[in-house]
Amino acid sequence: MVFSGLAEKLQETFKKLRGKGRLTEEDVDQALKEVRRALIGADVNFLVVKDFIARIRERAVGIDVLQSLTPAQQVIKIVHDELTSLMGGTRSKIELAPSPPTVVMMVGLHGAGKTTTTAKLANHMRRQGRRPLLVACDIYRPAAIKQLQVLGGQLDVPVFNMGDSVAPPDIARAAVEKARREGNDLVIIDTAGRLHIDEELMTELHNIVETVGPNEILLVVDSMTGQDAVNVAKTFNERLSLTGVVLTKLDGDTRGGAALSVKAVTGCPIKFVGMGEKLDALEDFHPDRMADRILGMGDMLTLIEKAQANFDQEQVEKLNKRIRSMEFTLDDFVQQLNQVKKMGPIDQILGMIPGLGGVKKLKDLEVDDKDLVFVEAIINSMTPWERQHPQEINGSRRRRIARGSGTSVQEVNRLLKQFEQTRKMMRQLMEMEKSAKKGKKGL
Ligand code: GDP
Repeated sequence: MVFSGLAEKLQETFKKLRGKGRLTEEDVDQALKEVRRALIGADVNFLVVKDFIARIRERAVGIDVLQSLTPAQQVIKIVHDELTSLMGGTRSKIELAPSPPTVVMMVGLHGAGKTTTTAKLANHMRRQGRRPLLVACDIYRPAAIKQLQVLGGQLDVPVFNMGDSVAPPDIARAAVEKARREGNDLVIIDTAGRLHIDEELMTELHNIVETVGPNEILLVVDSMTGQDAVNVAKTFNERLSLTGVVLTKLDGDTRGGAALSVKAVTGCPIKFVGMGEKLDALEDFHPDRMADRILGMGDMLTLIEKAQANFDQEQVEKLNKRIRSMEFTLDDFVQQLNQVKKMGPIDQILGMIPGLGGVKKLKDLEVDDKDLVFVEAIINSMTPWERQHPQEINGSRRRRIARGSGTSVQEVNRLLKQFEQTRKMMRQLMEMEKSAKKGKKGL
């Protein structure tokens, strides 16, 4: 889960603060010491940490002004604000060209996830109504053209290539002309990578930039490489004037240092984050929501957006009504499970729910999506009446359901209990959704 180590440490620190009615200077000093250690431990650039702590200390001095928050809440709010501004403050979007097509050039080292991200971005932007054309400009690795074609095929997005004997700037120019002719309003160029930054690569990328004048030059970096990712970003930016960074593999066991340092070190905003290998695992990067996640306030807004992107709206409306009226049944439960499965790995989703991200054991929790198969089997073995009246399912019915679904009575019991808890949790989520919309900054 994103930043799990850092999040855990910061949340422990703040828990200690929360227990105190008044904060002495010593308390604040101690907390800041712990914050510093947590950030360094998360591989955040040393100078960035130093600056960060100094800013918080400065703001924490005149603290008892805001009447509505306790001193501890104020320190947390300051850390939240500063984390947000460290990561860029506000969300940075793709700059669309005044007259289409918008040209986005993807650059990065081998293995960072450039080709995958190229396809993910096409998918992401298509959901916003764009008509993308992908362009294969990595002519050195024969498999690269094929890889892009396969990904484009999966998405049903056209892929332009001219084989491996035309110079990349010429391929890029021809692609932009084709897009203009054929009404593609977004051109995403996949370029060559290298194991390390070298002069030849930089010259070639520079030539593409000169030829097509891209609206965006996005650097794809692997967040698992920590400070290396930040150094790579610095060098690329010096040569190519990047417009943004995409951090990939944030779903992995990354300590988070790259995400927290890139903007401060390079001045380039993070525009997107890769949260998995699948083609829908690209998220807009919202600094404030990431700060929410790090501080264990969950990220209800991303969760709600994910739900909106994946859920069938009509079903959501129906489901909402049923939850509100507490008519939510096991039939709805199965339907909802199927929808949730589409949203991505369960542990990622849980991490976005306020409070749950900070549950210590969550990062070790391996939620096996296959378990859901048994859940469905159990529910399918119930009669329609039972599904509508789960509280009435007695012992003999439970035995019959277990037999029918190839499970045990204990498993049936567990499911019914989970269902009850889910009903409760859904009611709480509805409340939180309401207050998230009202003003989520209330800490
Ligand atoms: P390229 O050499 O930069 O073009 O890298 P690729 O696009 O071929 O990706 C390298 C590997 O990283 C592939 O196995 C991808 O599936 C994987 N990958 C890319 N983005 C992500 C991500 O956000 N999360 C995870 N877990 N894997 C990713």
